[in-house]
Amino acid sequence: MEKVACNKCEATFEIQLKEDKKEDGIIVTYFICPSCNHKYIAFVTDEECRQLQQELGKTHIKLRGKEWKKKRKQLKKKMAKLKFKYI
Ligand SMILES: [Zn+2]
Repeated sequence: MEKVACNKCEATFEIQLKEDKKEDGIIVTYFICPSCNHKYIAFVTDEECRQLQQELGKTHIKLRGKEWKKKRKQLKKKMAKLKFKYI
């Protein structure tokens, strides 16, 4: 697992992702600093985001054209919006 430094207390720790299921099929993926218990939101997805992620993941690298890039952009935007809502 990835190691990160906490912005609050500067402790270094391994990320252990946890999932928090909200209403409307929204899943908040987060991790907690074991030293100061600060909660970090890793990402937030809803049903639509997860479907997009699946579609994007299925596409072979060679086939990743304009349409793929457009979808990825759409996903990024959507996830940023969701994350903002839950922070
Ligand atoms: Zn900390």
